[in-house]
Amino acid sequence: MTTSFHPPVRTLMGPGPSDVSPRVLAAMARPTIGHLDPEFIRMMDEVKEMLKNLFKTKNELTMPISAPGSAGMEACFVNLIEPGDKVIVCQNGVFGGRMKENVVRFGGECILVEDEWGTAVSIEKVKAAFAANADVKALAFVHAETSTGVCSDAKVLCELAQANGALTIVDAVTSLGGVNVDVDGWGIDAIYSGTQKCLSCPPGISPVSFSAKAVEAVQNRTTPVPSWFLDTNLVMGYWGGGGKRAYHHTAPVNSLYALHEALVMLEEEGLDNAYTRHQKHHLALRAGLEAMGIGFLVDEDSRLPQLNSVLIPEGVDDAAVRTALLQNYNLEIGAGLGALAGKVWRIGLMGTASTQRNVMLCLDALENTLAGMDAPIKVGVAAQAAAAVFAK
Ligand SMILES: *Cc1c(COP(=O)(O)O)cnc(C)c1O
Repeated sequence: MTTSFHPPVRTLMGPGPSDVSPRVLAAMARPTIGHLDPEFIRMMDEVKEMLKNLFKTKNELTMPISAPGSAGMEACFVNLIEPGDKVIVCQNGVFGGRMKENVVRFGGECILVEDEWGTAVSIEKVKAAFAANADVKALAFVHAETSTGVCSDAKVLCELAQANGALTIVDAVTSLGGVNVDVDGWGIDAIYSGTQKCLSCPPGISPVSFSAKAVEAVQNRTTPVPSWFLDTNLVMGYWGGGGKRAYHHTAPVNSLYALHEALVMLEEEGLDNAYTRHQKHHLALRAGLEAMGIGFLVDEDSRLPQLNSVLIPEGVDDAAVRTALLQNYNLEIGAGLGALAGKVWRIGLMGTASTQRNVMLCLDALENTLAGMDAPIKVGVAAQAAAAVFAK
């Protein structure tokens, strides 16, 4: 007979999912109610309001899509891009490549601006792409590239798009909740995120927001949105205000309890405090790693505090270390992707997982594991270096 599944208790310090707060897990276990129940609708309205505060927007079309971050990405492209539309896509890692794939599949013309993995999107290259192409409908870029640990300058990229009359489509899956995201301040037109990175929720929900300009672009389409499920006109019939809600799909009721609880927790902490916490723990981890002799892939000015890509010391077996961390410390860190496979580890400090305890655990586990393999690192100094940052 098959028995119940009881997962091991891990510490998740990879590229996501990240640790889920016990409070959020407890919220998920509350009784399921009907997705048109007035109490559920009241909760949905609170989720929408809290998402607006988190995105820093007044956009009416702000809601969680009932599917993971990739569906949020697809929702932006499928609604905004029509056959023949020119879209500048910035690719400096895995997720920019997926944006390109979305543009092409919906019949758009993709103008690709490529930057080396581990570097930020080049403002100069985007400028040149606008100069070389008239009538660009949208500029699409990833704010926080989880595949490399790079933060690009969303504010300046959005200014460039506006100066050229283009819409902006922004991937904030890993940035939201970990670093500042200012939808109205920066003039972002379509943005999507995910629950399992810095929002400390289980995977499976994608908060999105569309500006009035983006909604107008959807309404002015000459062809119908080629996805029924992700058509914002239809989804809004369910998520829209006014208390009149039409059945569109059955909302993932308990997953939305989780998102509600996570957003309440973020409100309690305060957004600025959350950003400061992410930054502080990043600096402590960095001090410990650098004391050990482990360096970072990304230049200091474009590093993400919530995703640390660090260089694997010479001669060290990447997979053996990650396996040892998992087996001996129940600690998960991420592998490098693509050209960075075997060259970097990706250490996440996202949401609830961004704690002093996790920083110290990771340093200790890495030091012991690497020392046991005779790796070229300095031992006995990391914890003190990190502690010095916490003491500040
Ligand atoms: C994780 C991630 C996604 C995809 O989200 P899923 O929930 O895995 O579909 C998209 N973009 C970025 C930057 C991510 O980190």
